[in-house]
Amino acid sequence: MSYNVAVDGPAGAGKSTIARAAAARLNLIYVDTGAMYRALTLYLIREGVDLEDEAEVIRRSGEPEITLGYEQGRQKVYLNGEDVSGSIRTEEVGIATARVSALGPVREGIVAMQKALAARSDCIMDGRDIGTCVLPDADVKIYLTASSQVRAKRRYDELTAKGLACDYDQIKADIEARDYQDMHRQVSPLRQAEDAVLVDTSHMTIEEVVEKLVSLCGR
Ligand code: C5P
Repeated sequence: MSYNVAVDGPAGAGKSTIARAAAARLNLIYVDTGAMYRALTLYLIREGVDLEDEAEVIRRSGEPEITLGYEQGRQKVYLNGEDVSGSIRTEEVGIATARVSALGPVREGIVAMQKALAARSDCIMDGRDIGTCVLPDADVKIYLTASSQVRAKRRYDELTAKGLACDYDQIKADIEARDYQDMHRQVSPLRQAEDAVLVDTSHMTIEEVVEKLVSLCGR
């Protein structure tokens, strides 16, 4: 049996930073499931698919081959063999992904890949529905959150540090819109699993949160 840790929470709660660091400490593979939905969405955008046309999105979502790989311990996501790990990180793709991933049939194939991956590897998997749907029997479940103000400020600081112009209020509004969409969709909405430990990172440093996660894993 593999050892699996499920990390869920809203956009910008620091899931990927924390899960990646904890995975390195615990010698587990880190699986960022959002990257898979983002890669699929990037494909649909590039193909010019109208994302409001649900039937068309569902029909075309089986077309691309989405695979994960690891380079120097970092996850890479490939779209039909092309490394799209960087191109999927835009705000536009993030917002469009929340729309695409709300469709049940779109999720089925991706969730099956995630389950298979977790069954054969000791891993920390992060996403929105890991503790509730993908890995209901995970060894440890964590729900990471932070206030939308803190999450928007972190994102604002990250973008400004890269020299990119951005607007705090717009970022906060986008984060809240994505939370709403992820929490209110019919299929696999974002929610804390009953047996997940809630960690509010609003007033914690990255190191403190990683430490907390590692200690929850009891390793
Ligand atoms: O985590 P990330 O911001 O990359 O996720 C992008 C979007 O993908 C989320 O807003 C959510 O709509 C979707 N997602 C999902 N289920 C997951 C991971 C991500 O629906 N397990």
